[in-house]
Amino acid sequence: MGQPGLFQDIAFHSTVAAVAELPGHSAAEVAFAGRSNAGKSSAINAIVNRHRLAFVSKTPGRTQAINYFSLGDERYLVDLPGYGYAKVSKDLKRYWETLISGYLQQRDQLRGLVVVMDVRHPLTELDAQLINWFVPTAKPIHVLLTKADKLTRQQGITQLREVTQALRNAPQSSAQLFSAPSRQGAEEAEAVLKGWLDGDRASGG
Ligand code: GDP
Repeated sequence: MGQPGLFQDIAFHSTVAAVAELPGHSAAEVAFAGRSNAGKSSAINAIVNRHRLAFVSKTPGRTQAINYFSLGDERYLVDLPGYGYAKVSKDLKRYWETLISGYLQQRDQLRGLVVVMDVRHPLTELDAQLINWFVPTAKPIHVLLTKADKLTRQQGITQLREVTQALRNAPQSSAQLFSAPSRQGAEEAEAVLKGWLDGDRASGG
C-alpha cells in the first residue's frame, strides 16, 4: 500500500513482427499468451486497470504481431499474438510458430509467461504446445483461468485443481482463477508479475 503501482505508467510501446526486431533496450519483461478469444486482452486490461489498453493489440496490422507495452524503467509487458483460429493458412501457422517459439525460447529478458485460458476449456493442444516450448527455459509459468464467472465456485475450484495437477511437470508453474468484469484475481496476478520483475532486480544487483 502506498507504493507506486507496477502499471501506473503503462503505455503502448511498439509492434514487432520478427524476433530480429525485438527491442534492444529491455531490462526485463513478462509475456501474455493465449488462444484467440480466451480473454487475454480483457485480462490484461483488468490487471493493469485500463479499459482499452490491450485492445491496441487487436487493431489491424497488430493481431499477428508481438505488442510491447512499456512499464517504465526498461520493463515491459509483452502481448503475444493469439493462436488457434480455426481457419488460417499453413504459412500463417508457420509464421506464428517461428515468431512465438523463437521469442519464448530465445528472449533472455523474459522473466515469466502468463498463459490465459478459458476456465471452461483449459489446456487445449495448442496451449500444451506453447507450454512445451517454454518449459525447457526453466522460467516460471502462471496460468490465468479466466471467465471464472461462467462457472460456479465449485466448478472453478475443480478446474483449477485439474490444471494445477496437469502442470505438475512444468517447473515453477502456478495457476489461478480469474474474471475480467469483476477483476477477480487481478491483485493475485499483479503480485506474480511484480515478483518476476522485482526478483530480477534483486538478483541483478
Ligand atoms: P482475446 O482474443 O483472448 O484477447 O479475448 P478478449 O479479451 O477479446 O475476450 C473474448 C471475449 O470473451 C469477449 O467477448 C470478452 O468480453 C469475453 N470475456 C473476456 N474475459 C471474460 C471474463 O472474464 N468473463 C466473461 N464473462 N467474459 C469474458
